[in-house]
Amino acid sequence: MLYSSPLNVPKPVWRQEEDLDIFSDAVGQFFEKECAPQVPEWRKAGIVPREIWTKAGEMGLLGASVPEEYGGAGGDFRHEAIIIEQQQWKGIDGFGITLHNAIIAPYITAYGTEEQKRRWLPKICSGEIVTAIAMTEPGAGSDLQNIKTTAKKDGNGYIINGSKTFISNGQTANLILVCAKTDPTKGAKGISIIAVETEDADGFERGRNLEKVGQHAADTSELFFNDVKVPASNLLGDEEGKGFVQLMQKLPQERHVIGLQGVGMIERAIHETVEYVKGRKAFGGTIFDFQNTQFKLAEAKTEATVAKVFVNHCTELLMKGELDAATASMSKYWVSDLQCKIVDECLQLHGGFGYMDEYPIAQMYADARVQRIYGGANEVMKMLIARTL
Ligand SMILES: Cc1cc2nc3c(=O)[nH]c(=O)nc-3n(C[C@H](O)[C@H](O)[C@H](O)COP(=O)(O)OP(=O)(O)OC[C@H]3O[C@@H](n4cnc5c(N)ncnc54)[C@H](O)[C@@H]3O)c2cc1C
Repeated sequence: MLYSSPLNVPKPVWRQEEDLDIFSDAVGQFFEKECAPQVPEWRKAGIVPREIWTKAGEMGLLGASVPEEYGGAGGDFRHEAIIIEQQQWKGIDGFGITLHNAIIAPYITAYGTEEQKRRWLPKICSGEIVTAIAMTEPGAGSDLQNIKTTAKKDGNGYIINGSKTFISNGQTANLILVCAKTDPTKGAKGISIIAVETEDADGFERGRNLEKVGQHAADTSELFFNDVKVPASNLLGDEEGKGFVQLMQKLPQERHVIGLQGVGMIERAIHETVEYVKGRKAFGGTIFDFQNTQFKLAEAKTEATVAKVFVNHCTELLMKGELDAATASMSKYWVSDLQCKIVDECLQLHGGFGYMDEYPIAQMYADARVQRIYGGANEVMKMLIARTL
């Protein structure tokens, strides 16, 4: 198991505090002891057991960046970056902790009313609540403005109708942030985010837990809303029509999270491959002895170093509140493309064993592919970057 990076990138400014090393070790141990042995089972089951969320909550890993007054650990994005890194290094496929912590909780922390924060955040931190965010629909993914799900005002509440697909944590989540049109005549300005607490939600149904190319332990699902009534107080924030702006403000962090995940997996892939090629014998030596192997791994290490320095820079910007949409898109698109390329080359160096699902590199190959699609397809990222030219 990998304890440190195979790269020689110095610790960035944001990573200097000693407490962060202690935190990183504790997170690594949690993933290694409580999760890693179970990953093969999770992959077969297509879902992570509910208890693991409670355990992560008890360990203080859920809501790592939620303020203490709302039951969180009072950390910040540095803690989330460390959780992401450790999760990738330990290969804890499919556990949607990063989505819950670094993507969804920030919506509630940033835009929730005081009442919403007090109602949901403590349970998000304990693991009593598992979250999901439902943007994508069968007919609208990249073109989010075109979603068809509606939330119609009805007395002191909203009635939600529509269907969502590809929703991570979809079978498990009991608090779902649903993107819906509160005013279908207004395009982006008619979109709001409304929380659905699934336990008492008549008309809410979970569809299939979808079978995927990779990320087999993640319960990526269909969701259906048929006249689901929620109180008006479940509108995120206190004004309708703010959903699209809220998404645009929070998507850069989500995209940078994907960049961080990419670098974490690249580090693991290089580590695993170096171990493998040094042990595998052929033609009177090892696979590592071939100049081709050394050159491929030298290139991978160089590119990985460039990527790590860049994502560290993005984290630095994010910590200062200066990570803009275009730079976050660079982190997402460039690193995920690189991740797929390096993992593919590392698989090649494993020969036939690299194609066997029991080998970590085979799982990484399958798990990496979606990084270029979710969180905004890489083509959309390039569009956002091009707008700044
Ligand atoms: C495993 C997984 C987990 C996911 N989790 C979630 C989740 O938790 N919540 C959620 O809401 N969604 C989730 N998604 C959905 C994901 O965000 C969408 O799949 C993604 O945004 C792309 O949308 P789409 O699939 O509708 O593709 P489309 O919008 O149909 O696009 C198809 C392809 O067309 C090209 N394309 C699209 N737009 C442009 C453009 N403007 N310029 C050039 N080319 C373009 C791209 O190549 C793109 O890949 C998840 C998806 C997967 C696979």
